Amino acid sequence: MSLASPVKAALGRIALVTGAGQGIGRAIACRLARDGYDISIADIPPAKAKVDDVIKEIQSYGRKAVGVYADMREPKQIYAAVEETVEKLGPNLFVSVANAGVTQVKPLLECTPEFIENEVRLNVLGLMNTYIASAKQMVKQGSGGRIIGAGSIASYQNLAPYGATKFAARGFTEASAKEWAKYGIRVNAYAPGIVDTPMWDHIDRVLAEIEGISPGEAKAKRVKNDILLGRIQEPEDVAKLVSFLASEEAEYITGQTIKTCGGASL
Ligand code: NAD
Repeated sequence: MSLASPVKAALGRIALVTGAGQGIGRAIACRLARDGYDISIADIPPAKAKVDDVIKEIQSYGRKAVGVYADMREPKQIYAAVEETVEKLGPNLFVSVANAGVTQVKPLLECTPEFIENEVRLNVLGLMNTYIASAKQMVKQGSGGRIIGAGSIASYQNLAPYGATKFAARGFTEASAKEWAKYGIRVNAYAPGIVDTPMWDHIDRVLAEIEGISPGEAKAKRVKNDILLGRIQEPEDVAKLVSFLASEEAEYITGQTIKTCGGASL
């Protein structure tokens, strides 16, 4: 077994992280940069200022970083993002993190077809197309690779319609791991709980309205009641798991959606 440090092992390798302008994606991009990867940050054009900020942070770790603007609901843009990543940072895409996702909280009877379609297009189709576009590139390189997707504790305990999209992410992670192991590609997903990001600020506001409580209370109540470790999850907690899954330390792990949630889901 190689005793090379993860940093050394990653030199000359590229990681693509989608939805990395803020929140969990940003923490993952910065962590992988500290692990030695050059980073391609894929996000939508309105996130440009945030992406520029992430690029600066990554450069401060001595790694290269580029912004690749793509709507991960659009298959053509996903394939173009992978191509641009390799063109700009080339030649080997080694880690691809399908992180971009959206959640909207609504009672099911109030969910319109457009509302459901929006979640499915990003969380399910976006993830599947990111996995496939990345795997095609890795197979072409003949280098193997790591594909890592955004699940959730909602991949295990339903919270519809969002949970259904995260069940799909878990299912597709298993299916693609089976097909791509022969190419040296490991496929896994992370399943966080309540992470302190703008996404949870949005969930908190909607839940506060539904439950007739003040903003901040919905989040605080769930952290107190549901999280065994007694604190909200930071994006960096998720990034630690992704760093591990990308590393040689996880060489025997594939097809898994791994919970990192402070014991919120057992
Ligand atoms: P966030 O909303 O804070 O950030 C999402 C990022 O994705 C933003 O930079 C946004 O600009 C980008 N994005 C949005 N739509 C996009 C699109 N169509 N194409 C490309 N980029 C797009 O979200 P977060 O909390 O950091 O969550 C990241 C992932 O982790 C999501 O898949 C989410 O479902 C999952 N997750 C989050 C939590 C949590 O508690 N925050 C828990 C479990 C799972």
